[in-house]
Amino acid sequence: MDLGIRGRNAIVCAASRGLGKACALSLAREGVNITMMARTKEVLEAAAKEIRDATGVRVTAVAGDVTTEAGRAALLAACPAPDILVNNAGGPPPGDFREWDRDTWVKALDANMIAPILLIRATVDGMIARRFGRVVNITSSAVKHPIDILGLSNGARTGLTGFVAGLARKTVSHNVTINNLLPGPFDTDRLRSTIAIQAKTSGRTVEEVVRDRHRATPAGRFGDPAEFGELCAFVCSAHAGFITGGNFLIDGGTYPGTL
Ligand code: NAP
Repeated sequence: MDLGIRGRNAIVCAASRGLGKACALSLAREGVNITMMARTKEVLEAAAKEIRDATGVRVTAVAGDVTTEAGRAALLAACPAPDILVNNAGGPPPGDFREWDRDTWVKALDANMIAPILLIRATVDGMIARRFGRVVNITSSAVKHPIDILGLSNGARTGLTGFVAGLARKTVSHNVTINNLLPGPFDTDRLRSTIAIQAKTSGRTVEEVVRDRHRATPAGRFGDPAEFGELCAFVCSAHAGFITGGNFLIDGGTYPGTL
């Protein structure tokens, strides 16, 4: 299936590893030029080269922190008129809410709510003027069913989801859609570090935690980031102009509800 986005330009945030990188690769395979950001320059440049070599599209690596004004300005200077924006950042740490002060909350909100909103603000009017735009926010299955130790993530991402729910209905008549993808457990560095913490705090081995988590997932395994990237590419496709304000779980059946 040709997704109809060859030659489009995409900004993909937090894209040197994991889900962001998978989205960048899937879009690049569809012929989309990529401007990608992450903080660690060498890892980012290696990922950019990998995607460039695999697909032949133009890939621009912008090293920086998407939660900062300077980082976002550098990203927008490298790609001033994106057709596609994939919002992503690192997830906040687990813990008990009694340990989190105002600064901890502001950090989580900056990464998982405010940075995406500011990037949408900077790009959406141009998309409307050009009559094509696709915004995808990588959030979390925690928006649908909260994870107790990830209260910072539950709170910040649900704030973004509420904001997007209103805006997505205002842009769609201009062929600009805004949707959220809600990953369950995907085999990335982030998941592996969460598992290491779970193993340590519960006195189990990493292998035992992985086995239990596989059992708790109806699919019997973790998701492959490539599966996530392909969903992102479809939601960004020319065929997806009637899909907006959506929250798409991709979690191997983990969410237990009917709806
Ligand atoms: P990951 O493997 O840890 O990769 C995170 C990526 O984001 C890296 O490229 C990292 O590079 C970059 N990054 C982090 N903070 C950044 C910042 N402030 N500015 C720019 N780049 C930044 O994480 P992932 O598993 O792909 O997760 C992506 C998002 O999905 C996270 O918010 C995570 O919480 C959420 N999520 C993941 C899962 C899962 O199972 N994997 C499930 C639910 C939700 P640098 O560190 O070099 O900047």
